[in-house]
Amino acid sequence: MADLSALYQEVILDHNRRPRNFAVLEDADHQSEGFNALCGDRVTVYLKLKGSVVDEISFQGSGCAISMASASIMTESLKGRTVEEVKALFERFHQLVTGNLDSEDHSEPDLGKLVVFEGVSRYPVRVKCATLTWHTLRAALEKRNEVVSTE
Ligand code: ZN
Repeated sequence: MADLSALYQEVILDHNRRPRNFAVLEDADHQSEGFNALCGDRVTVYLKLKGSVVDEISFQGSGCAISMASASIMTESLKGRTVEEVKALFERFHQLVTGNLDSEDHSEPDLGKLVVFEGVSRYPVRVKCATLTWHTLRAALEKRNEVVSTE
């Protein structure tokens, strides 16, 4: 569906132009930095959990439209989710952008707006751009932030 992919592209470009949750989260309890050497994308993901629920999430970085839009839409999609849901969404997102998503599988959580990245599966070199922010988020979840004072 050409119209749909044009719409998806418009959403991606909009998030690239006006990234949501683009900020340092001063009191983050998890954070991690990611770098995609293939394209030069850099992203830092900040996270604050309340119990096992994502209470606040933000990011900073620079890179191509796909990487920035992916980070922006990811942060929008994850607020209020449990860590388990976040991991399940990453799995489905990864399947989506690598072209391995089973379209008959309607298990929760739904990808929601993340479907705009389905076109990435036709450009294998772009998969790392789309997944960088998710890998960085996973790294942030796996370790607590050692508090580093600003210089
Ligand atoms: Zn990129």
